[in-house]
Amino acid sequence: MFLTDRKKTKELNFHEVLERRAELEEGEKRRLKMLRQGFEGEQTYDRLWDEVGHEQLLIFRDLWLKVENATLQIDALIVGEDRLIVNEIKNYSGMYQYGNGSWSVNGFQISEDPLAQASRTAGKLIRLKYGGSHPFDVDRKVAFVNPNFNLTIDSDENEKHIVTRSMMKYYMRDIARRHAGPNAAALSNTIRNFIIDDPMATPEVEAGRIRTGLYCGRCGSYKLTLDRYRSHCGSCGHQETIEYQIVKAIVDYALLFPEQPIEKRSVVWLTGNQLNPRRIEFNMNKYCRLVRRGRHSAYVIDTTDITELLKVKGYNSKYEKRKII
Ligand SMILES: [Zn+2]
Repeated sequence: MFLTDRKKTKELNFHEVLERRAELEEGEKRRLKMLRQGFEGEQTYDRLWDEVGHEQLLIFRDLWLKVENATLQIDALIVGEDRLIVNEIKNYSGMYQYGNGSWSVNGFQISEDPLAQASRTAGKLIRLKYGGSHPFDVDRKVAFVNPNFNLTIDSDENEKHIVTRSMMKYYMRDIARRHAGPNAAALSNTIRNFIIDDPMATPEVEAGRIRTGLYCGRCGSYKLTLDRYRSHCGSCGHQETIEYQIVKAIVDYALLFPEQPIEKRSVVWLTGNQLNPRRIEFNMNKYCRLVRRGRHSAYVIDTTDITELLKVKGYNSKYEKRKII
């Protein structure tokens, strides 16, 4: 079973909001494409597990750990009775070569080295042995989930740590044969003590680049007409409640400017002054928490996952005509 959810990273969420609200620069476009491909690859990996079955296993997904002084990011960590298995997931497609410690694609060298990443992670995880109760080994594999990935590799030793799409299900079934028992449960509890929040800072963005206003959550169009309770998209006909629009603006602000407090005037600004500030304030009091920040108090939100935020704070969808995704 999966012990943790897999969510889009802060950086991916940031770039997706930026895409809605600004003209992306070339570097940002490339980064967004890469982040999306990576996330799709991770979802493919999860889906393969769902197809194989993982009820008897303990699998952490999208994990950040602090072990001694090292910060580790692990795409998937399978906890067994006597071993941990690190899976670094890659969604590469194309003709890749690996030789003399470096990777290249179509003849061009790339800086990323997933084999080294997985090896470093495994090396740090082995340190957990000394504080824990049961001995265990650490295995690692780089999981290339894209069927259009082709690899030429120079050594059998490195090849041992690679699994490609055509072999993924065999590999997973082999792991699934070993059921997780009490030692695995104890080891997963040890691992939980080392979990940290995603520590990556998102890039800074100039407020002047940001397009303010309300946009359609389905097609991204800013051509909306508003009635008392809903927005209606002039491009695709999709409707959203005003309350939903306000929460979306709060979340967008938190993703774009994570270092800044969320203030009423910031949300009024981001919604393009299209809504009554009192209505915005009412919803901020519903969806945000007021915390002390130094001598001042500021609004914060508990999560930037809008679906979760709406659920936790008791969103009432009675003014929705269609279900909002
Ligand atoms: Zn639309």
